[in-house]
Amino acid sequence: MDFLSELSHCELCEHRCRVNRLNAETGVCRATLPVVASATLHAAPPESYTVFMAGCNYKCLHCQNWTISQYPDNGIEQRGYLDPQGLAEECVDQLNSFAGKRMQADRIFFSGGEPTIHLPYIEKVVEAARKLEPDTKVNFDTNGFMTAESLKRVLKFTTSVTFDLKAYHDDVHMTLTGASAMPALRNAEYIGKYAKDQLWEYRIVVIPKLNENEIKPLTEFIASIDPSLNVCFLAFRPNFALERHPGADRQLMRRCVDIARQSGLENANWAGYAGIAGTVANIDDEMKKIYTSEATRLAGSYAFYAGCQRHPRNCNLCDVNQNCQVKKYMPRIST
Ligand code: SF4
Ligand code: SF4
Repeated sequence: MDFLSELSHCELCEHRCRVNRLNAETGVCRATLPVVASATLHAAPPESYTVFMAGCNYKCLHCQNWTISQYPDNGIEQRGYLDPQGLAEECVDQLNSFAGKRMQADRIFFSGGEPTIHLPYIEKVVEAARKLEPDTKVNFDTNGFMTAESLKRVLKFTTSVTFDLKAYHDDVHMTLTGASAMPALRNAEYIGKYAKDQLWEYRIVVIPKLNENEIKPLTEFIASIDPSLNVCFLAFRPNFALERHPGADRQLMRRCVDIARQSGLENANWAGYAGIAGTVANIDDEMKKIYTSEATRLAGSYAFYAGCQRHPRNCNLCDVNQNCQVKKYMPRIST
């Protein structure tokens, strides 16, 4: 498996762990060989055959796909390592199937987890798929925390990119995800400026009280790149470490679209299930001393209750990132 040789010194994302994943060493994402969580026809735009890759370089408190992203630490079974040629054949067959055609599924959509952590594998699958069908379209669904080199590789083979932004301010981003906002903002700017035609949309999950105040700076940032770029706000649903936190309601989602328009964006909308009830947690006294804003104090408290031992959160510098309790967190409620 020569195509995986760079995993012997992994620097695919900005954690730049430089571990030998081929020798079972693990970095922040905890991934070794590429593992496919599942694959299915998916009706959400862009309609696709979606391949969910297991594992992630973030540890988002609100993760909707936590059963996949927290692999391997949560012990939840995934489909496993699949031969790239076999997966390519499966993708092409499914896109050409009656159900695929009826759905108008027109591309392979790599999601996760975070597909960047398996980039050489995905490149191999795409290469094999295009040998079967040269016009195969590909979407890459990313949190954007990749190196500049990885981004250029992604842009070489993708038809479209769906790009998640979690927060603008570093302290809020760190507390929500465990990682810095800077790489994602840098890469968002690059794609908006130099690969606009490949950007399907930026996606922003709106979480009441936690990143509400991030919407204005995020939309101003995007508008400063190009006011015509697409932005879709997704209503947060209670999940993972935020399993009891209230979902975003329709009023908040409409307000986000208004803020985006006031920021100058021409193409902003929202989607998702809004208005799921919940209860805001109490802020822990220790977290009040460590974090400075209401949003980070609250996010830090949720992280603390889920077992996070390092505050301020920073998974890269964390002494226990190879035995992280947050990655093992099992919510009782999923929505
Ligand atoms: S976190 Fe990023 S750099 Fe570290 S091992 Fe995973 S993919 Fe490689
Ligand atoms: S315990 Fe460490 S690795 Fe786990 S979420 Fe907290 S900062 Fe990140």
